[in-house]
Amino acid sequence: MSEDKKKLTTSWGAPVGDNQNSITAGSRGPTLIQDVHLLEKLAHFNRERVPERVVHAKGAGAHGYFEVTQDLTSYTKASLFAEVGKRTPLFVRFSTVAGENGSSDTVRDPRGFAVKFYTDEGNYDLVGNNTPVFFIRDAIKFPDFIHTQKRHPQTHLKNPNAVWDFWSLSPESLHQVTILMSDRGIPATLRHMHGFGSHTFKWVNAEGQGVWVKYHFKTEQGVQNLAPEVAAKLAADNPDYHTEDLFNAIAQGDFPSWKLSVQIMPIEDADVYRFDPFDVTKVWSQKDYPLIEVGRMVLDRNPENYFAEVEQATFSPGTFVPGIEASPDKMLQGRLFAYGDAHRYRVGANHQSLPINRPHSEVNTYQRDGQMRADNNGGGSVYYEPNSAGGPAESAAHKTSPYEVGGAADSVAYDHNDHYTQPGDLYRLLSEEERTRLVQTIVGAMQPVESDEIKRRQIGHFYKADPEYGIRIAEGLGLSIPE
Ligand code: NDP
Repeated sequence: MSEDKKKLTTSWGAPVGDNQNSITAGSRGPTLIQDVHLLEKLAHFNRERVPERVVHAKGAGAHGYFEVTQDLTSYTKASLFAEVGKRTPLFVRFSTVAGENGSSDTVRDPRGFAVKFYTDEGNYDLVGNNTPVFFIRDAIKFPDFIHTQKRHPQTHLKNPNAVWDFWSLSPESLHQVTILMSDRGIPATLRHMHGFGSHTFKWVNAEGQGVWVKYHFKTEQGVQNLAPEVAAKLAADNPDYHTEDLFNAIAQGDFPSWKLSVQIMPIEDADVYRFDPFDVTKVWSQKDYPLIEVGRMVLDRNPENYFAEVEQATFSPGTFVPGIEASPDKMLQGRLFAYGDAHRYRVGANHQSLPINRPHSEVNTYQRDGQMRADNNGGGSVYYEPNSAGGPAESAAHKTSPYEVGGAADSVAYDHNDHYTQPGDLYRLLSEEERTRLVQTIVGAMQPVESDEIKRRQIGHFYKADPEYGIRIAEGLGLSIPE
């Protein structure tokens, strides 16, 4: 053994005498419990996994930066948008939604598109998808929806009956279902897809004036998709195809990039727009609110360690910075709680102090203790607030901006219930070839559904979006259009 090789140690730092043979009573054994190095090795190995994310379990990540290309400081005081040319480091995690940690990358599924900006006023997490809308618009339906995407409790198999039963009874899903079943439902790589904040957020400028905002990351590699037959073959031959592609591209210096644009809506428009702008199953037409470029995101560095960085990364749409706030979007409001809660359960109460999640700016809180507190836990400094010890204090300039609310507290849906115009608009903007593939994909996905009642109910939704859309799917399934 070469002299300059580092000594192997136990996890408590003592040199290890033998890492090949456990201590046994005689050469045959049994093994002695006094071999604490063996006990520690086996026990730690049993604990190598943290709970898998219930959704977005399979992911790939990369480091990079965001650079401002256009001055939008009249809309937001967020420091990451402060001046043209300013760069902010970031970490991105892409993911599929429904599959487990080892599942195939090239399945038909939305892709998570989560960005953590390490701004100089704290972290800002933009936790979106590669689609501008979502299947449901109220967080109260989320656990039920995800159950339909997961495995049947008895057979442990995916269950198309549950999928289409839920969608056919939740017509607000039609827009996202149409996007999912279109060519863009299986991106060629993680580099060849757009990203969206999906929800409406609020931007606030230095004067305290607000606007509603939506984010669009447009891929500079161009949108490219996989034909279903190619995707199916890859899913079997190389389940990590997207993960591998992203890592290799960055390793070879072929850095993927996205242009970030926003749509800006004046606050008062929200009361009069023809769709509810907070309903995440709808887009804002770009003819009404055109895209305004604000910057560019580049991914230029691979993680050093998958678990430490990608698996332990914790994103939450509630991780805001001054100048960026929540909107009343009901799906967002639920996510503001659910994501942080998932990470407190999955990674622990101190997940935000792990290196991948730790803000690059100074953190001064009165939080103390908790499992896995790895820093000095505030030392002997003052541990309550208010205090007369000169401890960190609030700054009124950073209060969340106020806004008017009204109406009765009640369990009610959004006022606007047109679930059909926008999916129809999407169908109508597709080319004939794209429509044919969309119909083929939907027919193929619905064929295994056992109940004709479910199929007919769903055909009715396609028909209401566009009669041609409904008729072609009904024909493909050999069914009639319901009354
Ligand atoms: P526009 O014609 O102004 O915009 C159409 C949008 O659709 C563009 O953003 C385009 O983006 C995108 N698009 C084009 N082909 C596809 C496809 N096969 N799958 C998904 N998106 C596609 O019209 P509107 O803004 O009035 O929107 C019309 C419809 O377009 C909407 O109902 C919605 O379904 C869809 N759409 C709208 C978006 C929005 O934010 N307004 C965003 C994405 C889709 P690209 O550069 O990618 O081609």
